[in-house]
Amino acid sequence: MVSIKTKEEILLMREAGRITALAHEAVANAIKPGITTKQLEEVAEQVIRSCGAIPAFKGEDGFPANICTSINDEIVHGIPCLTKLENGDIISVDIGANYKGYFGDCAKTHPVGVISLEAKQLLEVTQQSLFEGLKMVKPGNRLGDISHAIQTYAEKYGYSIPIEYGGHGIGSELHEEPHISNVGDANTGITLKEGMCLAIEPMLICGKPHTRVLKDGFTVVSKDHTLSAHFEHTVLVTKEGYEILTTLPK
Ligand code: MG
Repeated sequence: MVSIKTKEEILLMREAGRITALAHEAVANAIKPGITTKQLEEVAEQVIRSCGAIPAFKGEDGFPANICTSINDEIVHGIPCLTKLENGDIISVDIGANYKGYFGDCAKTHPVGVISLEAKQLLEVTQQSLFEGLKMVKPGNRLGDISHAIQTYAEKYGYSIPIEYGGHGIGSELHEEPHISNVGDANTGITLKEGMCLAIEPMLICGKPHTRVLKDGFTVVSKDHTLSAHFEHTVLVTKEGYEILTTLPK
């Protein structure tokens, strides 16, 4: 069952999303060559806790840290550590916040210093593939419309998609039904309804789609070690379309 949020739940989802976005903003401002991913984790945790929320990822399937930090060929679920970011790296930061039992989930990939044109295009296309997916979010459309839009846009640029990973419903659980694949056919899957909350999160790879999990048991890398990027927003399905919850009010 895909849950439909009540008005009260939507208020909590908005606040969870806002806190997640605030943490992202602070982390984005801290990213520079020489900083460690552990320091970025501390920045995010401080913001989340100062807002009365709890970092959502720690303990999720045994994940040992408050946020995920995935560098270069790391796709998702990287563990913050003492590795220093270097000029030319790209870093994917995935942050979740639990506010009074409701979750926000958001990921962004950032350049560190000056990056290659190859990396820059990967970031742009991955972010735009998220927005291509979001354009499909409205009542009456189907889940596969989102997947198909992401896949079509990514493949137009020659990127591949690791099919083992995807988005999800979100609410009083971090991961709820449905699973949202980043590949699929239009006009398939469940029909979207007002009040659903979805975390949509394309991950794209420059090379082949195959992945491998490192010995730490969590970090997923591209098997051919080509660059990967990840963008995610938590959205509410509205009467007209969607509202991005993991963003800051203008
Ligand atoms: Mg997610």
